[in-house]
Amino acid sequence: MCGIVGYTGTQEAAPMLLSGLKRLEYRGYDSAGIAVIGDNGITVEKTTGRIANLCEKTDDGNAVKGVTGIGHTRWATHGAPTDINAHPHLSNDGRFAVVHNGIIENYAELRKELIAKGYTFASDTDTEVVVHLVEMYYKGSLKTAVMKTASRLEGSYALGILCTEEPDTLIVARENSPLILGIGIGENFFASDVTALVSYTKNAVYLDEGEFACIKPDSVTVFDCTGKTVDKSISRITWDVEAAEKGGYEHFMLKEIMEQPAAVKAALAPRIRGEEIVLDDFSMTEEELRNINKIVITACGSAYYAGCAGKFAIEALCRIPVEVELASELRYSDPIIDEHTLLIILSQSGETADTIAAMRECKRLGARTLAIVNVVGSTIAKLADNTLYTWAGPEIAVATTKGYTTQLTVLYLFALYAAKKLGRVEPERWSQLLSDLCSLPKKMQNAIDKAHSMPALAKKLAHSDSLFFIGRNTDWAIALEGALKMKEISYVHAESYAAGELKHGTIALIDEGRSVVAVCCSGRLMDKTISNIIEVKARGANVIAVAFQNDRKVVAQADELILVPKINPLLSAAVAIVPLQLLAYYVAKEKGCDIDKPKNLAKSVTVE
Ligand code: GLU
Repeated sequence: MCGIVGYTGTQEAAPMLLSGLKRLEYRGYDSAGIAVIGDNGITVEKTTGRIANLCEKTDDGNAVKGVTGIGHTRWATHGAPTDINAHPHLSNDGRFAVVHNGIIENYAELRKELIAKGYTFASDTDTEVVVHLVEMYYKGSLKTAVMKTASRLEGSYALGILCTEEPDTLIVARENSPLILGIGIGENFFASDVTALVSYTKNAVYLDEGEFACIKPDSVTVFDCTGKTVDKSISRITWDVEAAEKGGYEHFMLKEIMEQPAAVKAALAPRIRGEEIVLDDFSMTEEELRNINKIVITACGSAYYAGCAGKFAIEALCRIPVEVELASELRYSDPIIDEHTLLIILSQSGETADTIAAMRECKRLGARTLAIVNVVGSTIAKLADNTLYTWAGPEIAVATTKGYTTQLTVLYLFALYAAKKLGRVEPERWSQLLSDLCSLPKKMQNAIDKAHSMPALAKKLAHSDSLFFIGRNTDWAIALEGALKMKEISYVHAESYAAGELKHGTIALIDEGRSVVAVCCSGRLMDKTISNIIEVKARGANVIAVAFQNDRKVVAQADELILVPKINPLLSAAVAIVPLQLLAYYVAKEKGCDIDKPKNLAKSVTVE
């Protein structure tokens, strides 16, 4: 995810582009750039870091002259956040410039093809193939060249393209990434969202999937992939800037919960080709994998709980023992680790200090390292032998949601990938699991759709002084994360317990009216958890069960139900956590908490 903007009109473009980019900075902020057509062709200015750096470099845009331009604020997916990898990217002949939001999934093949044809690449990005394709296909019409280029692209993109031959024209294209046109008088705009447009115009045209537009100072024409003009209506923008940044949601956390199906799809889609899982960034050979006799997953906070759920999938499918260790403990535990250990490091930011320290210690002891992080080019990504990015896009709310579910998704991908390499799962079961994995985005959406009763349930729970979350195996891992979400943002104390362990200790705390959230998404253990439900009910508990729709036995015992779509229990955490995130969100809202910035917490914990 990132932000793109474009302007063509009679005013100086660069200051407008920069002010639009500032509004889009919440979408991505590792580097930024602009390209403007002036008397001597295209001028590109780009730099790592925040938009403020670009403003400084260009004297707030005054140093770059021209009335047509494009801009980008990046959230790197392919290639580290460096000046060179920042957008816009230029064609070899300097006549074309491109900004791109999204991921070109088939960039590796296209890059090979273009290199064979003599094109040279300056950056490590997936995006750069686009600008070389446009140059290759340009035969006098930018529109045709962009349409031909788009027909070669797989993945997601919102593209903005400039060409010196048509200096007052911008061509844009959209597929699975947002793009909005801003309609002015004698000037027109495009942007990733309305925040960048509202200061200039309230008239917007929303591009649909697969549509293109040709934007000139006094006309905007939308067309489809055959070049045929599409009639579009103009919508009035009624949001203020703050609401627009959040996509109309009241909080970033809610927006990010809702984005999860798309985020998980972005993590899965480029890595599943037909009946295969392709992990381009994982280089261990089959023999090296066979040499691994133990996997240690290390992380902090929610990432640690993602590891707890991932353990069950990896052990069940790969039959390699998995230990999940808190990074802050592992680093000082004199761990038993050697070159036969694969260390999997989970961190959204890739900068978590405790996790980095644990990783360094394990590397020193000889472990192989696989990082699963969201931020490209982060410290953990650089330190690891291999890195699998989660491609969740920027997460603004301090309490993670899509960061957590995309980490789970990558762990599932790894589990299936390694199981196949090691030949540890029957082909039929493997294919079924792959199709279950592919169904995750749909099931998560379904879980969101079913969660409409969460605000009412939250009202009942908001005044609790303490809650219990119980479950077994993967269900317990889900309970741990569910309880953490509740504590983090609503400040309601929540205790997570392995369901079978309650009777060995804290069952005395279950008293009349105490609410217990029981996660029951594992068929094999259902009866066992039901026994625990009955135990707590006997002591007066109010049981809220998270269960699959048709599990009658659970339905019969629960006082309240949170229904989720049925999914293989090994993959259930990514789906069953969704209503619990929403429950925590609504309890926090009910209590008037500062949901996106809970007290005493920071997004990226870079201290010990
Ligand atoms: N995939 C592109 C890159 O890594 C675009 C990322 C974005 O949307 O910011 O440069």
